[in-house]
Amino acid sequence: MANLILRVNGVLPAFMQEMGHYHKRAEELAQKAWPLVNTSCSLFIENGGHPLFHLLVDIGSGVVESLLKYEYTKRLKIPGYKLRPPDCLLFTHSHPDHCVELYILLEGLMRRRPQAQYKNWKLPLIGTPRCLDTLIERFFWLKPHLEPKAVDFDQSSEIPIKGVGNISLTAIEVCHAEHAPGAAIYLLKCNGKKILFGWDFLSIKGNANSLLAGADIAFLDGNTWNPHPETGHISITEGLELVRLWQPRHTFFIHYSGYEDQEDEDKGLPGPMTTAELETRIAEVTSHWDWPPHRIQMARPGMEIHLKENQGPEVFYAEL
Ligand SMILES: [Zn+2]
Ligand SMILES: [Zn+2]
Repeated sequence: MANLILRVNGVLPAFMQEMGHYHKRAEELAQKAWPLVNTSCSLFIENGGHPLFHLLVDIGSGVVESLLKYEYTKRLKIPGYKLRPPDCLLFTHSHPDHCVELYILLEGLMRRRPQAQYKNWKLPLIGTPRCLDTLIERFFWLKPHLEPKAVDFDQSSEIPIKGVGNISLTAIEVCHAEHAPGAAIYLLKCNGKKILFGWDFLSIKGNANSLLAGADIAFLDGNTWNPHPETGHISITEGLELVRLWQPRHTFFIHYSGYEDQEDEDKGLPGPMTTAELETRIAEVTSHWDWPPHRIQMARPGMEIHLKENQGPEVFYAEL
């Protein structure tokens, strides 16, 4: 029976932690164990503990190190454990905080031994046509080793996984930023589970409400607490309205910065908040929903969500 494991490789926004800023959030991020890694997730599909497939969603700053450390900490518990390198990369868009380490991963994988075996090897990249064009232009010297697999908006594409069946991916067109052509959020279906990789957007083009309703896991953009459309992102308060509408079983807000909230004294100065403060605020806003508190949380770096067939998700936290 195949199981899905989602690992949150990183949760941070584009500029991670700006230098010269002193507030509680900065202190939280400065802690030794809080990895400075841009927003990224890995989806592992495994059967009886045997990894069959690794889909990496976005590869911004710190993601390669995060995966290497994941392998190392696993090996402390399971001697001989080897991380399955990504079989395929999925890109939400081409902003540097979502792609900058592509060359490190690819060059590293090509240096595997025996090297001759990887001479003609290519790494499949999934994204919308405009997103992939931009990426290939940016990483032009890697072109012979990239295998672009373009997906069109609103159409589901199937990735066959040997022994499991298909992963189905749907790209949903979003408004995000002028310099992020072809930006999308992705709905993934596999093994009866529905997962939303929903970061870096200000609004959704078209009506995807029925598609997005009832996801098992929704990662949702939440760049600020208060609405700040100038950032190209939705805020957590706006995200909560979508959560109310889509009713995911579990929501994890990700890509939080809070930088623009600093100007919002008139709104009660919720400036960059710590994870605990954000979750307290979320609980206040949703207190009358009658939902269990863990249904909406802030994503944490290194957390794992295990999704077994016919079971609710189990969440495991990395030690921070
Ligand atoms: Zn971003
Ligand atoms: Zn972006």
